[in-house]
Amino acid sequence: KAKTRDVALSEYLLGDDAVQLREVSIINSLAKALRDGELYMVYQPKQSIPQGDCHQVEALMRWQHPLLGKISPAEFIPLAEYSGMIDIVSQWVLDEVFAQQAQWLQSGIKLQVAVNLSTQDLRNASLITGIEARLEQYKFNAEMISIEITESKLMQDLDGAVATIKRLRQIGVDVAIDDFGTGHSSLAYLKYLPVDEVKIDKAFLDDLDVDDRARHIMDTSIRLAKGLGFKVTVEGVETEDVLQLLLSMGVDKIQGDIFSKPLTAKELESRWAKISKT
Ligand code: C2E
Ligand code: CA
Ligand code: CA
Ligand code: CA
Repeated sequence: KAKTRDVALSEYLLGDDAVQLREVSIINSLAKALRDGELYMVYQPKQSIPQGDCHQVEALMRWQHPLLGKISPAEFIPLAEYSGMIDIVSQWVLDEVFAQQAQWLQSGIKLQVAVNLSTQDLRNASLITGIEARLEQYKFNAEMISIEITESKLMQDLDGAVATIKRLRQIGVDVAIDDFGTGHSSLAYLKYLPVDEVKIDKAFLDDLDVDDRARHIMDTSIRLAKGLGFKVTVEGVETEDVLQLLLSMGVDKIQGDIFSKPLTAKELESRWAKISKT
């Protein structure tokens, strides 16, 4: 089996066989789980800086499995990619998000919803036509949807990905690079990336408030990205100290528990009045 993922902690605890058994049962139950309503979306607000209001949310999957309990997307998304099921997962996510967005727009809730897509999706010819068809069906502006793509995987087929990203932006969908800085990729690639936004991963927040070098890396990354014309979001912000530091560095948006955890659609609606004009 091709192991592309990091060795999970559970692998040490359970041993290889038990992990494989769990992985196989996750893969085998995924399609049925999508049909049976075991999966649902939550939405985490991004906060604009310095205004403090919210115009965007990120859509994140949740899975409540009848036997295994909560399964994190950090576990099942890589398995969906590995097993070739990511396309049905992403189609399901797009269906959910477009239906939700249509409902929000009807009730006067105006939020751009960011969808996480896999780089495998970018190679799937039906992806863009699927997005176009949904925009046609629901008749809302393409700007109400954006796409997030993880940096590390992007590098495996940069030319192909760039072509698809360009097409997405042509139809009016914003594109963000996710987990910016974690791909150990050469900075030279940045000048070829036709994207609107980069999201700096929460791994870069470790020790930010105590370590000069961590601070220097963050400050330089933000300057670099802004200098190239990208909007900069930092994700995973949990503390006031870190928030203040990021404000002083000129970040455009923050996303993290300090502003809001991911919310169900209902929770988001009930907090809408508050988060839309903090
Ligand atoms: P990501 O795209 O980097 O999403 C950010 C993750 O950080 C989310 O984890 C979010 O809940 C978490 N987070 C946000 N703020 C904080 C904070 O202040 N503290 C902490 N500790 N965590 C915070 P989540 O929801 O578990 O998702 C994990 C990963 O799974 C995502 O990372 C993304 O790569 C993937 N994923 C989630 N939903 C989807 C989806 O619909 N499609 C695809 N392809 N991947 C998805
Ligand atoms: Ca993301
Ligand atoms: Ca990620
Ligand atoms: Ca991340």
